[in-house]
Amino acid sequence: MVNFTLGYKNNRVRLGEKMASSGHIVLTSHSRPGSNHLSPIHWGAEDARTRGPIIGSVSNQSHRNVIGTHSGSYSVYRAISVAAGRLDPAHVPDLTNTSPVTNVGPHNQWFDPKKIVSFDPWGHLVVNEFKDHLKEGFDIRPTIAITQARLKLMEMQEAIAQRRLQPDGQVLLENGDVNVTKIAIDPVWHIPGLADRFEVDEHTFRRAIFEQMGGMYPELVTRSDLEVFLPPIGGITAYIFGNPDTLSDPDVRLACRVHDECNGSDVFGSDICTCRPYLTHGIEISVEMAQRGGNGLVVYNRKEGRALGEVTKFLVYNARKRQKGGDSAAKYFERTECVAGVQDARFQELMPDIFHWLGVTRIDRFASMSDMKHDSLVNQGIEIIERLDIPDELVPEDAHVEMEAKIASGYYTSKSPKAIEDLDSVVGRKIEE
Ligand SMILES: [Zn+2]
Repeated sequence: MVNFTLGYKNNRVRLGEKMASSGHIVLTSHSRPGSNHLSPIHWGAEDARTRGPIIGSVSNQSHRNVIGTHSGSYSVYRAISVAAGRLDPAHVPDLTNTSPVTNVGPHNQWFDPKKIVSFDPWGHLVVNEFKDHLKEGFDIRPTIAITQARLKLMEMQEAIAQRRLQPDGQVLLENGDVNVTKIAIDPVWHIPGLADRFEVDEHTFRRAIFEQMGGMYPELVTRSDLEVFLPPIGGITAYIFGNPDTLSDPDVRLACRVHDECNGSDVFGSDICTCRPYLTHGIEISVEMAQRGGNGLVVYNRKEGRALGEVTKFLVYNARKRQKGGDSAAKYFERTECVAGVQDARFQELMPDIFHWLGVTRIDRFASMSDMKHDSLVNQGIEIIERLDIPDELVPEDAHVEMEAKIASGYYTSKSPKAIEDLDSVVGRKIEE
């Protein structure tokens, strides 16, 4: 630590000078002669080298073939690290020993440019597939990493105590720990594919992002030759229970939960929604399926508060609890729309990409009541055999408002939904309670 601090103080001056001495600011809004023809990207090509590497490095402007840069929302922190003199802007990652613990793909779905549009299917294979480029000094970074982990969750210990699950020593250990493979995925957008998925023309799509981001990334509107964008947003984490090699095998059954981030409930146990109970229920059915020779998959998307963000979400909570008549299922969606202008911005249209990437064509047990998630998967050709609603005993008291509102709006349930006129009777805790 001492060494680091001393080193950092000396470095800071040196790196600051380095930034200042790099001279003029390079604008990216127009291509320079001779650039952009080094590594063309052929999205959907049948091998990585034909597809071409994604080069979002800022250390050599002439190598870049995308808009934006790596690490999603964390790219901003990388920029601050450079500004603060703690990171050498020319640093190139040493990728020794970082390769995936298990292989994924390639699957046929990778070769249809319209099937995977929101991340790079070759993102975990960069070190092998682009060896020659790396040797030549191109700064090409993995956008997917695959590792192993052990999960320690109170709910799994409870499931063992209540005899819903039995340890098997492999998937679920005696102490309740769960063995998993986990995969982190950064966003890599193929703009024509995204525009197509949302059924808008590419120009409208590019212009809306440019303007609504306050004029960020002018290349969106000036460089139609650049088709790939690394957006500054959160990515995906996938947790696989069982044998990842058999995920794409149609003879092996799959249990699955697709979960959109809800930090308040997922991490802190806040009781106004059913997110954590549904997440751990998804893990439980995944463990159970893996124990029976199938696989489990939990997909965790960084889309806090229906991708409207936590500030909007907490504003809505207050508006719901302070409205006339209190928090009620009848007015649940209305309050979100009053604050945010939309009810939901998660755009499940992009969510099926990870299933295509993993080669999954069928989900045998799907732990989700969301009609949007279901319809989006089915529209993308992924079969869903059984839909599971969250068991009643897992729904916190105050979360019944959300649950009934969602069911009335079309969410799946195996029980009979309440009539719209009965929704007024489902009320939550008052703000002062
Ligand atoms: Zn929640």
